[in-house]
Amino acid sequence: MEELFIVGPTKLKEIVKHFVGELQKGLDHEGATVAMLPSFVTNRPTGKEVGSYLALDLGGTNFRVCEVYLEGQSSVRLRQKKFTIPEECKNADGEVLFDFLASSVESFLKDSGVVPTGQNLELGFTFSFPVNQTALNAGNLLVWTKGFNCSNTEGRDVVEMLNEAFTRKGLKVKVAALVNDTVGTLMSHAYNDPQTLVGVILGTGTNAAYVEKIENVKKWKGPKPASGEMIINCEWGAYDEEKAMLPLTQYDNKLDAESQNPGQHIYEKMISGMYLGEICRNVFLDLIEKKYLFNGYLSEELKKQNSFETQYMSRIERDYSADLSDTKMILQDLLGIPNTTARDRRIVRRIVELVGIRAARLSACCIAGLVTQMKKLDGCTVAIDGSVYEHYPHFGNRIKDALHELLGIFAENITLALGKDGSGIGAGVIAALAN
Ligand code: ADP
Repeated sequence: MEELFIVGPTKLKEIVKHFVGELQKGLDHEGATVAMLPSFVTNRPTGKEVGSYLALDLGGTNFRVCEVYLEGQSSVRLRQKKFTIPEECKNADGEVLFDFLASSVESFLKDSGVVPTGQNLELGFTFSFPVNQTALNAGNLLVWTKGFNCSNTEGRDVVEMLNEAFTRKGLKVKVAALVNDTVGTLMSHAYNDPQTLVGVILGTGTNAAYVEKIENVKKWKGPKPASGEMIINCEWGAYDEEKAMLPLTQYDNKLDAESQNPGQHIYEKMISGMYLGEICRNVFLDLIEKKYLFNGYLSEELKKQNSFETQYMSRIERDYSADLSDTKMILQDLLGIPNTTARDRRIVRRIVELVGIRAARLSACCIAGLVTQMKKLDGCTVAIDGSVYEHYPHFGNRIKDALHELLGIFAENITLALGKDGSGIGAGVIAALAN
């Protein structure tokens, strides 16, 4: 297993080089594996922007409405409320969903006593579904994912549909910007740290955005921005869909084959929260079948796809007890495997560690790739948001270790920072800049 999962420094370097080549293809032409989408965000904040902006974050089960107060002097206050999207809204006519979003904004504003009068309140809309963005405040929905499927929406401009819902409610709110969560994470952190040039998500999925010189974006046909820069949403989860470079094991290939999107998002499937536990489960199944683990016993629970959750990995890696007692509890109470031996538990722990370390080291490759592409080895900040980065023990240090192997002494110049609530605050910052 160690031979399969440990990615040494030579391979790390090969991946970085290959990834930079793939970035280039995405900047040169449409339809590349790593899509490299221009975000239409062309200015970074100075930290002096002031004002109150709304942000709306629609991505999965919950959606959040936030009020972002930019106080100048790089300081931000955030007030937010989470709403659960009723199942019936997810599969209804688009108007039903967008009316629900608008009434949530209305209820948030009522709670906070803010009644927009006269001038419209400006809103940044973080929308984590595939869109073809055509302006800062316009983008056509390509396809719904994550259990959403609203009729009369695909191909239409999501900003327009939200603005129409506000008008139906008589709310004086206007969408100023359509924002990807990676771009939001970058911009939010840049508000208090101008060195921030990269925003990364390591959560359910993974992706990143970074600051690129417009002359390097060969496929860009629009007007040249005054800043000379464009923030690019990489869509790096799709990296290596050709399976030409990443060190895939039989366990990764099984996960991919059984996934909802076989052959797609290969990099994401080795790194992000939705998949790490399942890679471990595939290894356990193999070792159980060979009778190396649990004396060959396979529980009903462990037979189920995704039953070994990524958050169990965090707990197991945090289990420092001599007999791995928390690991024992997880196996027994959550996975229906009683009577594990200390040896079983040490094997489980080591597998978890191997999969977790590999994920962090592969994340480091693409971070190093972006820093190399920007020629910023002399220093920059990478803002990272998402539960995997925030809660998985040692994840950040493991990324750092790999950066050292890749970049040597220059790794010291790269600051990794947790960009918590980045997408909400960032959408507010982008709305402020648009204003
Ligand atoms: P999202 O990316 O959907 O906005 P999160 O950043 O919270 O949301 O990521 C959720 C993902 O993180 C889930 O796939 C889950 O498996 C994983 N996750 C949640 N808690 C933990 C944890 N303690 N350790 C590692 N992974 C976790």
